[in-house]
Amino acid sequence: MDNVYNFCAGPAMVPADVLKKAQQELINWNGLGTSVMEVSHRGKEFIAVAKQSEQDLRDLLSIPDNYHVLFCHGGARAQFAAVPMNLLGVADSADYMDGGYWAHSAAQEAAKYCQPNVVDITCDRDGKKAILPAAEWPLSDNAAFVHFCPNETIDGLEIRDLPVTDKPIVADLSSTILSRPIDVSKYGVIYAGAQKNIGPAGLTIVIVRDDLLGKAQSILPSILDYSVQVDKESMFNTPPTFAWYLAGEVFKWLKELGGVKVMEQRNVAKANVLYDYIDQSDFYRNEVHADNRSLMNVPFQLKKPELDGLFLEQADAAGLKALKGHRAVGGMRASIYNAMPLEGVQALVDFMKKFEHENA
Ligand code: PLP
Repeated sequence: MDNVYNFCAGPAMVPADVLKKAQQELINWNGLGTSVMEVSHRGKEFIAVAKQSEQDLRDLLSIPDNYHVLFCHGGARAQFAAVPMNLLGVADSADYMDGGYWAHSAAQEAAKYCQPNVVDITCDRDGKKAILPAAEWPLSDNAAFVHFCPNETIDGLEIRDLPVTDKPIVADLSSTILSRPIDVSKYGVIYAGAQKNIGPAGLTIVIVRDDLLGKAQSILPSILDYSVQVDKESMFNTPPTFAWYLAGEVFKWLKELGGVKVMEQRNVAKANVLYDYIDQSDFYRNEVHADNRSLMNVPFQLKKPELDGLFLEQADAAGLKALKGHRAVGGMRASIYNAMPLEGVQALVDFMKKFEHENA
């Protein structure tokens, strides 16, 4: 099949140019006659990859010098535990703003280590799903930090404002990192699994402000301890070297395209094509209010849910893969991360039009 577009929420598409380069380098990387995954993480060749990828990520997100960048294992879920165990210090509580499935899951994990103040920040706006403005989130006085998830991958909800607080803000950016500019200096900790907007699963990016180190609980496993990882430059144990290398290649690709501002323009253009089509149709609907519609994950429902199976079958045959919505929400979901070209979204809309015409 010529053009296959993968709308999977994660692991997700990797830019085709990056995959082609990686394919060429698989047998002979850096003139070593071997692949990057077969060399020592302590050798000078891999150390160069580690240093360059960190610098490129710093450039892309304008990460200030008082922040450390860590390349970790364990996915975002490991950070659900690492965050409270690193940041609580002597406090027994943290604010967990619950905007959907992933923020809720983070709060559930945190409840093992403290008594989280969990606040439901979802609301109904004009009959659509939305999120309360961050300035209205009821924060507590005794919280060690405020945790939220700016892009709820399953619900297709995006939060564009930040909590108003002098406490460290902790954000799970797994499904939105590098999709648009952010002001890193406003955050205490940012973490993100790589498998959506960066590269292969197995790598987790953690960006942590320097003054938040050194508060870890003594029983915290060393592998999750930010101070240990900073001290060992993310090589306390063997890091996921191939995923790290590929992430570095994606960072280079992003820089060549013009960085996250350009990426945001591309992402807005892509999302508009899909939302505009859904909005003018009586056959499809998206239930999220325009204020909080995700640029990355677009859930949509068919007016006739009995046609879901046929839609998925025909879409798959047309090369439009992995459009099934999460089991918690049903319907369809198109994940249109950075690596998804505009042509992929256009191909989806063309298919949706044809399906509507044949089945309305
Ligand atoms: N947070 C968000 C926003 C996600 O979308 C996901 C995965 O889909 C996770 C956390 C869990 O990530 P991981 O599987 O890397 O632990």
